[in-house]
Amino acid sequence: PGQALSESEAEEIAMMFNTLLDIVEETAEVSESTPANKEGKVDPEEELKEFWKKLYEEKEDKLVERAPVVTIMGHVDHGKTTLLDNIRNTRVAEKEAGGITQSIGAYQVNYEGRKITFIDTPGHEAFTEMRARGAQATDIVVLIIAADDGVMPQTIEAYNHAKNANVPIIVAINKIDKPNANIELTKQQMVAKLNLIPEDWGGDTITVPISAKAGQGIDELLEMILLVAEMQEIKCYPEGLARGVIIESKLDKFLGPVATAIIKDGKLKVGDYFVAGSTFGKVRRMIDPNGKNVKVAGPSDPVQILGFEEVPDMHSILYGVKTLHEAREYVEKKKELEEKTVQKRHIRLEDALKMMQE
Ligand code: GDP
Ligand code: MG
Repeated sequence: PGQALSESEAEEIAMMFNTLLDIVEETAEVSESTPANKEGKVDPEEELKEFWKKLYEEKEDKLVERAPVVTIMGHVDHGKTTLLDNIRNTRVAEKEAGGITQSIGAYQVNYEGRKITFIDTPGHEAFTEMRARGAQATDIVVLIIAADDGVMPQTIEAYNHAKNANVPIIVAINKIDKPNANIELTKQQMVAKLNLIPEDWGGDTITVPISAKAGQGIDELLEMILLVAEMQEIKCYPEGLARGVIIESKLDKFLGPVATAIIKDGKLKVGDYFVAGSTFGKVRRMIDPNGKNVKVAGPSDPVQILGFEEVPDMHSILYGVKTLHEAREYVEKKKELEEKTVQKRHIRLEDALKMMQE
């Protein structure tokens, strides 16, 4: 005591601390992911999850098809934005007269009388998002590969995320209008680097050559999306309280907390109470991707929601609840659980420090 530490001693202590912190982190993670902790406190989110699981089992024959939710992923500059813009500009049917089309992070198209919802994730955010919420938001991934550049690192990364989330992949080979486009070479790379064998090569990966810029092949791509959706049997329970996924959230200077959700089941109505992550709210207003106020949002509809108490986490699940009381109770339970986790961390850290002193 009182003696200065040598450099190597200090380094050793620092390393021990880091190991310690890792242990603490792991312990905290375990307690966070446990639905019922030792004091018998149940995570209300797990209860809702369980409720929906049971509902799906009981109402199996009442489940109906819903529109597919699609995310376009791929290497930077391979054409994600151009493809989304092309689809949006040419196929979003009636824009409100005088209405401003606003970006709420998702939009819906009507193709041959059937709806498709596209999630518009700026830049690389799509990757972290996919990781965070697994297959919750997306039913189908369109993996875009530029035919003049081939399979690149982010193509592989995107592919891995889609695969891990167990989401079906359609490959769009883009920029086929370019003189140096090489579709054959791109397919070879698909096989060699992704282990994806195109259908016309005897494999089972639907592969559509397109030009997002010239609008070539887009109809085929949309048809393939609908085909895959049909094969996947993407279902929902259309009645009753809503369930949805938050895909975007922010604190707006004027509007307060706002979030975009894609509704997966049931109906969300203006005036409904809801919970999401560790917050709750009452739907004050809902805005669709055309900037129009809507009173009701149903399965696969993207909708911006006003009325959150706090900004919800981006990947959290929104559940409609019957009463304000129910919503409040949920949040209280959530807060209690969070405090418990923090307490646990402290005790563990103290124990560990004691052990170090001995
Ligand atoms: P992102 O980074 O994946 O969103 O890629 P962008 O959509 O921003 O496209 C990157 C660049 O490639 C832009 O200059 C686009 O105009 C161009 N581009 C995208 N699709 C095509 C295409 O089909 N043909 C050609 N010639 N250029 C394209
Ligand atoms: Mg882009």
